[in-house]
Amino acid sequence: MDAPTCQKCGSEDLRRAHAHGRLRRLYRRLTGRSRYQCQACHHRGWTDLPVQARGADGGPLRAGTGRRTERRDLVAHRVARLRLALTVLVAMLLGALVAVMLARSGE
Ligand SMILES: [Zn+2]
Repeated sequence: MDAPTCQKCGSEDLRRAHAHGRLRRLYRRLTGRSRYQCQACHHRGWTDLPVQARGADGGPLRAGTGRRTERRDLVAHRVARLRLALTVLVAMLLGALVAVMLARSGE
């Protein structure tokens, strides 16, 4: 199985990091990528592979500690991305419609 590695030092000791800020969250939703922090060199970056969320002791989080499972996370990401894509598509169609109407009324 492919493990996500640090883009800077190649370490596999990555921890999932929260994407702070609107733009980063939007980027995450659009691309489905995960934000990580390397435990070896503290580099923060993005990876296409799911990053294991870990507890403070470095081990996997136990079930029921508040975090959703990785699989549910992935499904939620996918649904959120689809919904966003649909919203953008509808907005673009409405924009195009308005542009056509404005162009016609100007003739
Ligand atoms: Zn690193």
